[in-house]
Amino acid sequence: MSSDLHMHTTFSDGKLSPEELVAAAKHAGLRYISITDHDTVEGIVHLYENGLYPSRSVNIIPGIEFSAHHPLHEIHILGYNIDIYHRGLGDRLNEVTEARWSRFSEMVEKLQGYGYPIRESEVLKLAGSSKSISRSHIARVLVKNGCFPTIRDAFDTMLEKGKPAYVPHYRLEVDEIIRLIHEAGGVAVLAHPKLIKDDALVEEICQKGIEGMEIFYPQHDEEDVKRYRAMAEKYQLMVSGGSDFHGYPTRYPPEVGMFTIEDSWAEAFYRPEKNLN
Ligand code: AMP
Ligand code: MN
Ligand code: MN
Ligand code: MN
Repeated sequence: MSSDLHMHTTFSDGKLSPEELVAAAKHAGLRYISITDHDTVEGIVHLYENGLYPSRSVNIIPGIEFSAHHPLHEIHILGYNIDIYHRGLGDRLNEVTEARWSRFSEMVEKLQGYGYPIRESEVLKLAGSSKSISRSHIARVLVKNGCFPTIRDAFDTMLEKGKPAYVPHYRLEVDEIIRLIHEAGGVAVLAHPKLIKDDALVEEICQKGIEGMEIFYPQHDEEDVKRYRAMAEKYQLMVSGGSDFHGYPTRYPPEVGMFTIEDSWAEAFYRPEKNLN
């Protein structure tokens, strides 16, 4: 058996709906999964309100992935076992996701200004039930419309930070994210530290009251895993890991179950008593 504590659904920028993801996890024989959509817990709410969470087939850890504000670096923080109906958390998430909608319009306008054939309505159609619209949705439409061969090319040319169509979005500060996760009863885990590209900053965040670090991650090589495990030990952090599954064939991993972690790591995060009934 194996587990995956970092996965996205259609409620942010993933391809599979939460029920499809759970079915795929069951099919792959996963024991623990965490649904960690960007800035929203609506995917888990959706499962719960349709009687699909808790699930008989796989142990689901309710999760979220926050993007934190930082002038230079991309910092993402995972929250596990948060109360999906927590008012304070919900209010702040609404503010963050609302701001994503106006930012998306601004980005589409910029792209149009550069002559790219893209309409808001196309992105909205593709985004479907997403509560958290992102650059991924815009990139997919650009590829669909033949502007770029791959999503990566769309990012490299137009959408990455510093590229012409990039617009920053409203993000909470690291400290507030950690506080909100705790207030909602969850544990805070620093996501994919390597992608921060600044280990001194990673160490700084380790000292801000987080409980864990995402050690196992597709882009972490053996050396990275070793270094971050030592760091986790130094700051007495729990070890987490996941595939960052989005469900798109061109983005690794293309299938659920291709990148997993040992169950024992995931089990340490699982709080069955937190399951709503
Ligand atoms: P946003 O939250 O709107 O800034 O969009 C960030 C999302 O875009 C991430 O969650 C990734 O899924 C995706 N993303 C970021 N950079 C790249 C890239 N270089 N290639 C493909 N997808 C990316
Ligand atoms: Mn994403
Ligand atoms: Mn991330
Ligand atoms: Mn992610």
